[in-house]
Amino acid sequence: MFRFPWTLTDNPVGWVEITDSCNIECRGCYRRRLEGHKSLAQIEEEIGFMQRFRNVDQINLAGGEPLVHPEIVEIVRLIHARGLKPCIISNGQRLKKPGLLESLKKAGLEHISFHVDSGQIRPGWTGKSEEELNALREVLADRIHRAGGIKCGFNMTVTRSNLDHVPRMVRWALSQRGRVTGLTFIVLRGGVLREGYTYLALGRPVQIPPDALGYLTDEATRGEYVYATDVRDVLRQNFPEYSPAAYLGGSVRSESLKWIVAQTICSGRQMIGSAGPRAIELFQSAYHYLFGRYSLGSRRPLGHTALGMALLDRGMARAFWQWIRRGLIFRPVYGLAMAIVQPPDELPDGTFEMCDGCPDMTYFQGKLVHSCRLDEYRQFGSLLSQVPRQMTSQARD
Ligand code: SF4
Repeated sequence: MFRFPWTLTDNPVGWVEITDSCNIECRGCYRRRLEGHKSLAQIEEEIGFMQRFRNVDQINLAGGEPLVHPEIVEIVRLIHARGLKPCIISNGQRLKKPGLLESLKKAGLEHISFHVDSGQIRPGWTGKSEEELNALREVLADRIHRAGGIKCGFNMTVTRSNLDHVPRMVRWALSQRGRVTGLTFIVLRGGVLREGYTYLALGRPVQIPPDALGYLTDEATRGEYVYATDVRDVLRQNFPEYSPAAYLGGSVRSESLKWIVAQTICSGRQMIGSAGPRAIELFQSAYHYLFGRYSLGSRRPLGHTALGMALLDRGMARAFWQWIRRGLIFRPVYGLAMAIVQPPDELPDGTFEMCDGCPDMTYFQGKLVHSCRLDEYRQFGSLLSQVPRQMTSQARD
């Protein structure tokens, strides 16, 4: 696989949280409600910081729930006016508001990624199975499709309990015939407060209230954990055409796979192949050469022309021949990108392994921090670390 060339200061994505308010509840949510909505000035400062110090191509607006921010349309317009791609990570609840989607489209919205899964407390959908939630996903995909010109994706938190639903989610996305262009599978991760450990922030011992951080969990929940490679293997077993071609590793261990990415090529309800590592490398390098920054994908949805890459990439060549062999040449071709993300893993020494080249860095008091651990900064002033209590008492003596 090709290792994405993304770094702290040259990365396609800037993660900007515009509010910590939300209108539903998700299991293991990273964000506590402490401050509510940010001001437009604060948000514009963060966008400017991302553009200047991270060389971003897109801004992912997140939260909380970004659609509950009263100035969401103006924020999208601000990003578009800077020549960046405005993307929203949303639970979709607020899209029912008449005229909101049309205003967002007019303001320049390019992509929306919906977080819908069975771990959510959502009016009218709580307790529904992943299968039953396809009805909600259909409503949201339909709304975006009718607005036109906005790419649509879905996120799902994966645990041992709903791992078997992953291939069904892909089949549902294929049944949308190009209305859905991206799926992100995020495996559940959290932290456990350990007996006999002292927790430090800014080098000083701190007390952590049990509900301080949304991702604090218990030993039992760790039994629900799966690895990104487990999700990859389930996809491989169910879709022979699925072939991941790019990755991000871990910040500590050389063998870690934290992001596993495939650009599958599809036609009708069929997956006909996957772009190979050369195709991904060529796109990243060419985009950076032409536009001076990396990208998660071009503005235009992937289509027939992409099959032209068959001359340069084995994966695309296989897709091209499947397209011919299966008699699909009169059918539209589209892309279904699939990312599997493995959030921070606790290591035996009590430290945490992050994603190397993290695309979801966010702004905090003049610096870039991992958005998945932002609440540690917001509540304790720095990342938390843990040391066995006997070590702190020995240090004191
Ligand atoms: S390290 Fe970055 S990419 Fe990985 S889970 Fe955290 S915020 Fe997301």
